[in-house]
Parts: sequence; structure tokens; C-alpha cells
Amino acid sequence: MTSEKRSGTEEVVDMELQCVRCKARMYVPVSQVNAVIASLARTGAAILICVCGQAQIIRSKRKPRHD
Ligand SMILES: [Zn+2]
Repeated sequence: MTSEKRSGTEEVVDMELQCVRCKARMYVPVSQVNAVIASLARTGAAILICVCGQAQIIRSKRKPRHD
């Protein structure tokens, strides 16, 4: 078995990304995913921090509007 549980049972959201540095799958705690989504909606991008410390920018797949 390789399943791990951190202290508590905080749920995480799979961001379907891999860290560029350590190749770990990127997950965001449910408690933080709203902030990530809000940042994506507002700026079209958000920053995730991998467990290894590597920061990674994710971008919305939608193109920002320029009216
Ligand atoms: Zn990493």
C-alpha cells in the first residue's frame, strides 16, 4: 500500500498537472481551491506551490476578454 494520509483527513483536488521539478502530481487542498479558482477567474492565472517548494503558474484555458 502506498496510500498516505496527512494529519487530519483534508481532501485535495487533483489539478491534473505535474510539478516541473519533481514530477509530483499537483493537488490543492479543498480549503484553498476556492482561492485558486477566484484567482483564475480574476486574473486568468494562479500559482500553486508543490510539496517540493516549486511554484507553478496555472492558467485558465479560457481566453481573457478584452472588450
Ligand atoms: Zn515538486
